[in-house]
Amino acid sequence: MTTIPQIRKLVTAIPGPKSEAILKRRSEACSSALGMAIPVVVERAGGGVIVDVDGNSIIDMGAGIAVVNVGNSAQRVVDNVKAQVEAFTHTCFMVAPYLGYIEVCEALNRLTPGTHKKKSVLLNSGAEAIENAVKIARNYTKRDAVVVFEHAYHGRTNLTMAMTAKNMPYKDGFGPFTPEIYRMPMAYPLRWPGGAEKCAEEALDFVIHKMEKELGAKNIAAIVIEPIQGEGGFIVPPKGFLPGLSKFATENGIVFIADEVQTGFARTGHMFASEHEGLVPDLIATAKGIAGGLPLSGVTGRAEIMDAVHGSGLGGTYGGSPVACAAALGAIATIEYDDLPKRALKIGEIMTTAMNAMKAKYPIIAEVRGRGAMQAFEFVLPGGLEPHPTAVGEIVKFCQKEGVLILSAGTYGNVIRLLPPLVIPENLLREALEVLDRAIASV
Ligand SMILES: *Cc1c(COP(=O)(O)O)cnc(C)c1O
Repeated sequence: MTTIPQIRKLVTAIPGPKSEAILKRRSEACSSALGMAIPVVVERAGGGVIVDVDGNSIIDMGAGIAVVNVGNSAQRVVDNVKAQVEAFTHTCFMVAPYLGYIEVCEALNRLTPGTHKKKSVLLNSGAEAIENAVKIARNYTKRDAVVVFEHAYHGRTNLTMAMTAKNMPYKDGFGPFTPEIYRMPMAYPLRWPGGAEKCAEEALDFVIHKMEKELGAKNIAAIVIEPIQGEGGFIVPPKGFLPGLSKFATENGIVFIADEVQTGFARTGHMFASEHEGLVPDLIATAKGIAGGLPLSGVTGRAEIMDAVHGSGLGGTYGGSPVACAAALGAIATIEYDDLPKRALKIGEIMTTAMNAMKAKYPIIAEVRGRGAMQAFEFVLPGGLEPHPTAVGEIVKFCQKEGVLILSAGTYGNVIRLLPPLVIPENLLREALEVLDRAIASV
């Protein structure tokens, strides 16, 4: 990856002729139900850039949705994966175990918040991690109800669709959904009736009241929440909300599950976002940033909860594949040795400084929010809070034409989220922010 020049360079329009030809084949061969954030075909990627088949070098402000935190083809990931595929590619951990899986579990048990005895299980995807966390919590508590939140995103399987808030595009026409999923209001400061201050005062009481009176605390198996909501638009709950939920869970025998699939692995300036408020989840679901781009996920948590499930009750053919585990050990070593949490804070500082300057100039920006290298703008019609998704569409397109990949988000499609690889060179990051500034000015 170090051989890829870290520059923004356009040699054709986006998409160029070679991308266009392959994208025609894409429309012929691949289901039209699959989305595409930028219409280019990738040839190589590394550091802070994606190089397409036409030779355009595009600044990557998405990291494959917070996956390649360590960068694409990071050296330790490449070396470990190469060695592993030469040794063996698969035995199935439940058939014949191997060291890599155990070492990833040891790393997760060590790195996740809390000093209590922890254990882990490895799966393939974020959704599968959430499914397993819920299975474990239900089995442990012998209860059914699962509490989730407005604007939540937990995946696309049947259970996780039920847990996800947004209908289009994730749920529409895909029902019926699994029962016993209960959605609570989210502590969303910008949009709380009465404003941010009232949100900090009221949200926790409101949600606890609903859990007690409508569900009955003793019927709740788990509370599942993203410490910062990802697809929902990088909503950061006010201080105290997450610890308050966690305390309520503990007092009532409810398993508190943090979905750190998007926020984990140094993204927010800590290894896990729960650490910002000293939160110690009972179970924590991880995926995305765990393995430098290879499919892997995990559930880590209190040993007595993880061990409550009967023998052979958890697993799956590919879960914790030796190749993905080798990649994860390379990615985790990179995060620790290169102190990527600190890099995430620095990136966050650069981004928020530029973003707040933009907010001061452009009345369509209602808010800049996030933590570390996970920052977003919410766009509104000037003078109020009415969502402005068309502005987001135009800004994303403008950036693409200029060779910058950015992602949108939000229940109302009115959020732009910035998630660069944590190894992006500073000058490239600043250049992307300058393009973004011009993009916003243009709408
Ligand atoms: C992406 C995501 C998931 C689902 O992960 P997949 O690997 O796509 O199944 C779950 N929760 C959060 C917070 C996510 O961002």
